Amino acid sequence: MVTRFAPSPNGQLHIGHAFSALCAHDFARAFGGRYHLRIEDIDGTRSRPEHIAGIIADMHWLGLQPDGDVQFQSQHTARYEEARDQLIAAGYLYRCGCTRSEIAEALKQKSVPHGPDGPHYPGTCRERPFNEDAAYCWRLDMEKALEAAGPLMWTDLAQGQQFADPMAFGDVVIWRKDAPASYHLAATVDDAADGITHVVRGKDLFAYTAIHRLLQHLLGLPEPIYWHHPLLLDRDGGKLAKRRSSPALSVRRLAGESGTALIDNLRQGTLMLGISLSDT
Ligand code: GLU
Repeated sequence: MVTRFAPSPNGQLHIGHAFSALCAHDFARAFGGRYHLRIEDIDGTRSRPEHIAGIIADMHWLGLQPDGDVQFQSQHTARYEEARDQLIAAGYLYRCGCTRSEIAEALKQKSVPHGPDGPHYPGTCRERPFNEDAAYCWRLDMEKALEAAGPLMWTDLAQGQQFADPMAFGDVVIWRKDAPASYHLAATVDDAADGITHVVRGKDLFAYTAIHRLLQHLLGLPEPIYWHHPLLLDRDGGKLAKRRSSPALSVRRLAGESGTALIDNLRQGTLMLGISLSDT
């Protein structure tokens, strides 16, 4: 079995990331499996080299050493292009030249379903002839893709069998205007390329698995098992993100705190949450 921790170097890691890495790491270790670190630096406008260096130093400090080389999405764009072209050839993608304000304008005229990421794309570019000069992204024609795929299921170790409902998101972007592949395409393709058998990640990404399951089906990729672990919450029940109550890991590291003590505390916390990694 192979798990991975896949942070985006768009900011400093905080304790929620340490918990996520710990879950993926200990889960693999509990079964004699391998644990990978994948840096999701596909978005050149948001990724920063100092955050990449910070992630690698934080993982070392925490004692969560990955097996094998650290993977970088920015080095695998050919892989994503190939997957995109496969989807284009099969007729599942269409070009969309809409700007944010055009979408907002179209949404005033048309009522559309709302999904976990907000209102669905109103479909303006689905049928209209494409202006070759415009910058464009590629969107998934969700109805068409689902017609071809039929009903899809996936398995979450904490919550059991799930019916995949990617329709809840509408025509999602698969290839971005301003950067290469979307998170959905890059993560799905990499999980298969890296032989990830168990995707361990936070519950905040639970709903996206429906899109990933559909992409696996359309691209003929293997289906991993998922475990969406609980999120660490602060005292007010809010998500423990970059809050004052949660200094960045690098701040704690540079202040001379012990990373392994922090991880041991988190391990005890996982036991208190009733998560036994070897039973999951
Ligand atoms: N890169 C994503 C993030 O930092 C996580 C991707 C994943 O685990 O699938 O939120």
